[in-house]
Amino acid sequence: MTTSRHAEIAGAGLAGLTAAVALARQGWTVRVHESAPELREIGAGLYVWENGLRVLEALGVLEDIAPNAHHVTDFDVVDERFRIVQRMSFSEARGERLWTVLRPELHKALAQRAEANGVEIVTSSRVVAATPDGTIATAADRTYRADLVIAADGVNSTIRDSLGLLARKHYLLDGAIRLLVPRSSVERSDPQYQRCIEYWKGTRRILYTPCSPDHVYLCFTGRAGDEAAKRLPIDVDMWMREFPRLAFAIERVTPDTPARWDRFPMVKVHQWRRGRVAVIGDAAHAQPPNLGQGACLAMSSGLALGSMLGTSNDIEGALERWEAYERPIVRHTQRWTWLWGLASVAFPHRLQRARSRFVSWLAHRDWVARNLERTSRHVPAGAPVD
Ligand SMILES: Cc1cc2nc3c(=O)[nH]c(=O)nc-3n(C[C@H](O)[C@H](O)[C@H](O)COP(=O)(O)OP(=O)(O)OC[C@H]3O[C@@H](n4cnc5c(N)ncnc54)[C@H](O)[C@@H]3O)c2cc1C
Repeated sequence: MTTSRHAEIAGAGLAGLTAAVALARQGWTVRVHESAPELREIGAGLYVWENGLRVLEALGVLEDIAPNAHHVTDFDVVDERFRIVQRMSFSEARGERLWTVLRPELHKALAQRAEANGVEIVTSSRVVAATPDGTIATAADRTYRADLVIAADGVNSTIRDSLGLLARKHYLLDGAIRLLVPRSSVERSDPQYQRCIEYWKGTRRILYTPCSPDHVYLCFTGRAGDEAAKRLPIDVDMWMREFPRLAFAIERVTPDTPARWDRFPMVKVHQWRRGRVAVIGDAAHAQPPNLGQGACLAMSSGLALGSMLGTSNDIEGALERWEAYERPIVRHTQRWTWLWGLASVAFPHRLQRARSRFVSWLAHRDWVARNLERTSRHVPAGAPVD
């Protein structure tokens, strides 16, 4: 017989909120501590692949974000001579969904779903430590006991570090500025503007992503040492000169457009758990966004936690099975998203043509395509199976 279980979660990002909904739906009581004074996500778009969409479907959130989501059918990578380096097509009929959404909308939908399931969300509550027996302490000197503690406190996770779980955290050579611009009526209706396109020029890239009826998400990538590429507010003239085909969208960026630059992180941990503490999301496996899978995997491990802990009396055994099920696909994704990113930073300017030929050759190999797609084909534990 099972009794009511309680979880304390640090971090109300996409990982923490997904885990909260998943556990609450299994009958757990859940409290989420968020260090910020209010719940928020950055103003940017997010690619949600088939694996992430399955999570949202399982939690009943898909229907909340569906009305504004953009259904991607084509994704191109184009080089400086406007040659297609990589082309991907997606068919919902073949079970290859890829949606782009507004981050704040997804975040809000998860928070609302959490509250509807009885989850308590406490803002301005910073968790400073956790112990393997399931106790957390907050900066306000309060302690809470739980059957399960979840560290979903992001790339700089205090809990992960206080438990000695961090194996390696480092930053890659590149980073990106993310922002949203308004979408024009022509872009809404003209088929050529429905594709997602990443333009490459040397070590700089811009990703153009329709992500709601009213918004286009622009992601400006460059090396961390490239001061002009990471300047905020963005240097509109420089980016328009470099990427003239996107000038129509770049010129909509104003000095007031909310934007931020992030260097791409990579986090590896010894284990995803210690005693009754589980580490999820960027805290466990932050990764560069070249495959756009960090949040999808975070949500996947959040759903899997709820499903595997469900009504089990053996918390530590369930956590072991959870890690064994979800971790291999995360390892695979971290390896491949890192490798794919090398294509854009490892070639000097003078070798741009060679880079295009090499990446195009790679993208046409079946084994490469299979490895790139493997994460989106992963079915998280607890997600609907076709
Ligand atoms: C440029 C870029 C583009 C990306 N694009 C995609 C994409 O298209 N698709 C995709 O799937 N992924 C993408 N990602 C990855 C994705 O953004 C992250 O993997 C995901 O947002 C991680 O969510 P999280 O909840 O683990 O962490 P976070 O979003 O960092 O949330 C952590 C939360 O914990 C709170 N917190 C921190 N410390 C404490 C504490 N001590 N106590 C309490 N609360 C605390 C924070 O305030 C925050 O709210 C991208 C990443 C980058 C950098």
